[in-house]
Amino acid sequence: MSKNYDAIVVGMGPSGIFCAYELIKLNKAQNILLIEQGKRVENRVCPISKTGKCVKCKPYCNITSGFSGAGAFSDGKLSLYNPKDDDIHIGGELHKYIGVEETKKLIDYTDEIYLKFGADKHLEGVEHQEEIEKIYNKAKKEGINLINIPIRHLGTEKAHDLYKNIEIYLEENGVNLLFETTVEDLIIEDNCVKGVVTFNNKTGEKEEFYSSNVVSAVGRKGANWLSNMCEKHNIQTKAGTVDIGVRYELSDKVMEKINKYMYEGKFIARPFPFKDKVRTFCQNPSGFVSSEVYDNDMALVNGHSYKDIKSTNTNLAILVSHNFTYPFKKPIEYGRNVAKNLNELGAGNVIVQRLGDIYRGKRTWEEDLEENSVVPTLKSAVPGDITFAIGYRTMTDILQFIRELDKVVEGFADPDNLLYAPEIKFYSNKVIIDNNFESSVKGLYSIGDGGGMTRGLMMASCAGVQMARILQCKF
Ligand SMILES: Cc1cc2nc3c(=O)[nH]c(=O)nc-3n(C[C@H](O)[C@H](O)[C@H](O)COP(=O)(O)OP(=O)(O)OC[C@H]3O[C@@H](n4cnc5c(N)ncnc54)[C@H](O)[C@@H]3O)c2cc1C
Repeated sequence: MSKNYDAIVVGMGPSGIFCAYELIKLNKAQNILLIEQGKRVENRVCPISKTGKCVKCKPYCNITSGFSGAGAFSDGKLSLYNPKDDDIHIGGELHKYIGVEETKKLIDYTDEIYLKFGADKHLEGVEHQEEIEKIYNKAKKEGINLINIPIRHLGTEKAHDLYKNIEIYLEENGVNLLFETTVEDLIIEDNCVKGVVTFNNKTGEKEEFYSSNVVSAVGRKGANWLSNMCEKHNIQTKAGTVDIGVRYELSDKVMEKINKYMYEGKFIARPFPFKDKVRTFCQNPSGFVSSEVYDNDMALVNGHSYKDIKSTNTNLAILVSHNFTYPFKKPIEYGRNVAKNLNELGAGNVIVQRLGDIYRGKRTWEEDLEENSVVPTLKSAVPGDITFAIGYRTMTDILQFIRELDKVVEGFADPDNLLYAPEIKFYSNKVIIDNNFESSVKGLYSIGDGGGMTRGLMMASCAGVQMARILQCKF
């Protein structure tokens, strides 16, 4: 295997693989290496459906690692944009680097690639504009903003097939894909990147690969690693955000209109008294709550829905954005500590609690769930008391948000609704990059969720495409 490459991409999530796709398309880079600590997409299996509980796969969680990154098991909701909007409201900050109009063009282009590889042609949220307008106005009265954008829903099982098609395409076109290999370190000399040091997860062998263009596309999974690299190599960063919250599960009936008209309602508010940004995220009609593992032992909650298998519940994340002020600079540590305490309370598992029990000031017991009208879809979740471990500010934000949204969506604050925790979205301290995504180290680029640029499949994929266009000018 060659040691020298035109470009090395660390991570094969959507941002990494779309970068490789576009590099081939532009036909400039002959020699590209993608390195991924997880497995090939066809070998990624989450054992929870057989074991009934998360077994914390070693060395890496199959949900978050492997070809297509967190995208493979994701629900595959591609958030597009509303042509009437003069800003981009969803998916992070890509538009701050390349502009709103350019971002829209990039979304159109990237959406075509998804369609080419098998995405469903149907778009959610484009019909029923009159009904959506009514919900929008109702929300506005309560001080809640409803983001109205079209969504292309792949579905978890279809997303797997689609990414498999991309994996085949990349290999057939000569991209080198190195799996089950972790990039341990970056080789940096005189503030210029020279390559990477890898660790083979199976043989334990270390190796070096060289390139003057290294792209970090490590996702939230690699946020901690990236932070360590920035500290070690003096790569400039600024304090980032950590989103902490819960996965909320309620009856499909309550969410009927939102599910029917929009598939996913993206609500954003700044509830009293803290005025923190609180938002709904990743809504899964007739879906299933799931669990994923970060850094080998941290159990976090998530959710997805299938095209064919349906539950009678909708789940969605309610996330509070935490931006800390002087002198605190460690948002990832903060999030990890919250997760650690919650995991301790749940004996290493995600905790579930009824909303009514929080109001009543009591924990939830197994017997309570047996009688509950909303039946939990994550069977491994342990009933308990989330309020022991989530900070006062976060909990107040969430409860206030639920109360306010209940005035828009009747039943949103039903006492039988379930809260699962911890749901945390880690982003590394933001890597400072210029408009060409280049960090303070020459030739070292950062794209996707990991460096804090994007939040979601479509934007991460777009960032990859744009990265390739930037790189091609250098070859
Ligand atoms: C269960 C679930 C459901 C989701 N549903 C949706 C959805 O419906 N819609 C949506 O828009 N978004 C969804 N998301 C979020 C979406 O998957 C991410 O935003 C997207 O995958 C980010 O892409 P990325 O390329 O930045 O990073 P990732 O997809 O996280 O990929 C990064 C890759 O880098 C690898 N890596 C990290 N560090 C190293 C290292 N040191 N060496 C080698 N490899 C490394 C990781 O193993 C991983 O495979 C979901 C996420 C999850 C977990």
